[in-house]
Amino acid sequence: MDLSPATYALHAHRLADWIATYLRDVDSYDVLSSVKPGAIRAQLPKAPPSAAESLDDILADLDRIVLPGATHWNHPGFLAYFANTASVPGILGEMVTAALNLNGMLWRTSPVATELEQVATDWMRQLFGMGEGWFGMITDTASISTMYALAAARERDPALGIRQRGMAGRADLPRLRVYCSEHAHSSVDKTAMTLGLGLENVVHVACDGEFRMRPEMLSRAIAADRAQGYRPIAVVATAGTTSMTSVDPLDAIATICQRESVWLHVDGAYGGSAMAVPEMRALFAGLERADSLVVNPHKWLFTPMDCSVLFTRQPTVLRRAFSLVPEYLTTAEGDEALNYMDYGLQLGRRFRALKLWMVIRAFGADGIAERIRHHCQLARTFAEWVGAEGQGWSVNAPVPFSTVCFRHVPEGETDEAEIAAHNAAIMAKVNESGDVFISHTKLGDQYVLRVAVGNLRTTEATLVRAWTLLREAAG
Ligand code: PLP
Repeated sequence: MDLSPATYALHAHRLADWIATYLRDVDSYDVLSSVKPGAIRAQLPKAPPSAAESLDDILADLDRIVLPGATHWNHPGFLAYFANTASVPGILGEMVTAALNLNGMLWRTSPVATELEQVATDWMRQLFGMGEGWFGMITDTASISTMYALAAARERDPALGIRQRGMAGRADLPRLRVYCSEHAHSSVDKTAMTLGLGLENVVHVACDGEFRMRPEMLSRAIAADRAQGYRPIAVVATAGTTSMTSVDPLDAIATICQRESVWLHVDGAYGGSAMAVPEMRALFAGLERADSLVVNPHKWLFTPMDCSVLFTRQPTVLRRAFSLVPEYLTTAEGDEALNYMDYGLQLGRRFRALKLWMVIRAFGADGIAERIRHHCQLARTFAEWVGAEGQGWSVNAPVPFSTVCFRHVPEGETDEAEIAAHNAAIMAKVNESGDVFISHTKLGDQYVLRVAVGNLRTTEATLVRAWTLLREAAG
């Protein structure tokens, strides 16, 4: 038997209070956990308990073990990587998802899981001002969404026979090529590893001075490949690159893809959410001609991990890439109902749509736009402070969204290794404060620091604190 509903209620009320206190006081913790590797394991028994433990004892370990070992993504000072938020409606949604334990593998295994996923992803499409004709599906991460998109791209020409015959040992199969910018996310390369395309068949196209893919270089790369007998199958354009949030020129790239009959996948894992802000949609012109798009609500749409949305205008091709129905999964509904298992690798599927639907309802289209707009404004303000400071400080990339790349160069220093070490030391000092957590990247050979605004609790005061710490650390 499970523990009783009364036991559940008792502890759930306590936990609800614990979570509310946590959210209220999250900034009282050091944003970055200071535990040393292995320290958490060292506090825990090596073997599982043979006798049942009380929930009181187990929950006490949340404060004793879990919180000290957590880096607090919900902390206002979390400014590293792409900051995100587990918002209140999203947390409530996750609670119910666990309790209902629905498995949306087939429509019939839980109609509401499938239909809310259709509704929530279609609401997202509308929030983003995208036209009709997009099919939406939730996955766990952008890496998986991109892998699915490129699996579909590979399946687009059924004459290649890959679904049935595979790729290994086939003299009749040309090399299949994928193109992305030199600043695309590593998930494109990992997809090539996973799908058997091979890392060397990912062509990293050169970028312009603002880190955007150069369309003429893409055209040239495709032409050179065709001359060698290779088969271009997909271009991945990024709208919000991981390092510096640059946006590839989607319109020009879409024209090339159409001309070349190549699948266009847009990686908007982070930046895509900015389409919720009507005046930012111009950045995405050309998206309407893409074949697929990924946007992660778990990055910048205030939805708790994990939740990625893959949109495609070619659901039939995606289905062909993945559908395989054994007898025991056939259902009477037939084509009348959508079975999401047909559109991806996994059979069992979490009810992720619930939290996304709740977030969209609880904030509304206007509220979402206002929050994202505010984050962009905060980032621009921070960039202005850095830009106006002089004294060796500079902003090193345009700020189209809510992320700023910047650094400090000591007077007279020209050696990149020294500059990198200096900025790494600044970052280490700032992060030791416990008040803010920033990260770094490289723009070409330039080591830079990154501040990414994406948490709903981040305010201008957070950035003032970050800027004070940065200037103190620079000496
Ligand atoms: N694409 C871009 C542009 C990203 O910035 C990231 C992660 O930061 C990813 C893909 C991978 O996202 P996920 O962690 O959901 O796989």
